[in-house]
Amino acid sequence: VVTIMGHVDHGKTSLLDALRAADAAGGEAGGITQHIGAYQIDWKKEGDDGGDAQKLTFIDTPGHSAFDEMRSRGANITDVVILVVAADDGVKEQTVESIRAAKQAGCPLVVAINKIDKEGADPSVVKQGLLEHEVVLEDFGGETQSVEVSAKEGTGLDKLIEQVLLQSELLDLKANPERLASGVVLEARQVTGQGAVATALVQKGTLRPGDVVVAGAQWGRVKLLLDEAGEKVDAAAPSRAVELVGLGGLPAAGDSLVAVENEAAAREIAAVRQQLERERRASSLFVARSTADRESFLGAAAADALPLRVLDFVVKSDVQGSAEALASAIEALEAADDKLQVKTRVLRSGAGAVTSEDVMLASVSNAIVIGFNSQASRQTADEAAKANIELKEYSVVYDALDEIKAMMDKLIRPPPSKQLGSIVGTADVLQTFKIADVGKVAGCRLLDGYIRVGCNIRILRGNLIVYEGKLRSLRSVKSVVEQVDAPNECGVSFDDYQGMEVDDRVEVYLPKEGQGTDFE
Ligand code: GDP
Repeated sequence: VVTIMGHVDHGKTSLLDALRAADAAGGEAGGITQHIGAYQIDWKKEGDDGGDAQKLTFIDTPGHSAFDEMRSRGANITDVVILVVAADDGVKEQTVESIRAAKQAGCPLVVAINKIDKEGADPSVVKQGLLEHEVVLEDFGGETQSVEVSAKEGTGLDKLIEQVLLQSELLDLKANPERLASGVVLEARQVTGQGAVATALVQKGTLRPGDVVVAGAQWGRVKLLLDEAGEKVDAAAPSRAVELVGLGGLPAAGDSLVAVENEAAAREIAAVRQQLERERRASSLFVARSTADRESFLGAAAADALPLRVLDFVVKSDVQGSAEALASAIEALEAADDKLQVKTRVLRSGAGAVTSEDVMLASVSNAIVIGFNSQASRQTADEAAKANIELKEYSVVYDALDEIKAMMDKLIRPPPSKQLGSIVGTADVLQTFKIADVGKVAGCRLLDGYIRVGCNIRILRGNLIVYEGKLRSLRSVKSVVEQVDAPNECGVSFDDYQGMEVDDRVEVYLPKEGQGTDFE
């Protein structure tokens, strides 16, 4: 699967057109083709009549930003990038952005130095320019291949494809066609008479009409698969891009597409994804911890107005009764501190072994899979490992509940002991440094409240208390001071503690009169 990238007007579209015109299956460029965002080309060497043509899929993305956007959503849609650079123009802004996008995706580059037919074309300028952006071509002792081409005259295309195929051989790309399909949505649009039509790149397995698929938060039974010439396709194997008719609604570009066993499974997965989307939009549910800290500081907010973190679970058990019992015990667990509450939710519970559907549901919803007296098959366990899903097996209810409670407690902040006094400020450690005669100093920013010499200090690393003691020395910029207020920065140091680290949270407490205010 190949993506052509490069600066505007350097010839991306012309190159793709030239490659399609030279297609061994032939003539498609002359015929009527639809824009489906991807094209498959059968490539045969000139004069080579033996052997099968090589198949290459070209993704016709609108550019590196769309590529980045898809990647940021976890979709890796290309194996090799062809970087087009015009020989009469050299390396330009979008050339550099394309190089960065390809590097971040870990895709090998093949450079097509285009417009070589033009007067004033100078490949060496291109090569030098690439060198300045850490693309070292073979001529300079590097590993990146470049090929001089003219999209206009159709020259150099054979060599270019040869290099692309060479790169793909090095990558040793393999996919199993004998399983349910999975892939990525490249684009989707509403077509009168057909409903939602999505272009999908199949990455694993084989997609066929009649398959039940989930794409993003949409699902449906595949009514029709079409290729770029508008012809019906019976089976789309890995690396094939097809138009898919049959989804109930429009998925988004970059959404994952999976074929599932049956409609019930599809409906359930789509429902979970829809719910997750709604929740993501209701962003109050996902507020970052530190913002939450700032907003609800000094504890005025009521408990149910606290920001909420939900841990999701899929529960399977040997018998239905214990699955239900465990699920409701899990859902009864709660944890909270004065800034955050943590709750649980069981997305699905049932009898039987943990199946790949459970794993899939967990992977789309970031859930943890619990098997109670029920073991996952080796294959399912492998799938879970690949999808980075936590699969936990228990045979004692209290073990399960204890571990889940511990997981929740990790997210909240330990309650301060009474002897600290009442909280008057919090700060984040931005950096640490050493000052002669003082020792280690933590450079902090006050998030709220104030910090004052004589106050009790508690330092948290995550939910671990790493220090409790009294503040003896405070400085602001260069001078020693008594008090610093939010949102200013300050330096704090302790006689008896040097272990402060960047990102530690500093809590400031005002000791109560006459109470155990001293830690010595
Ligand atoms: P894109 O913006 O990268 O897709 O670039 P286009 O494919 O639209 O090409 C931009 C312009 O360069 C068009 O006018 C093309 O005709 C011209 N062009 C593209 N490839 C070549 C080439 O190999 N030689 C010459 N002389 N012109 C080219």
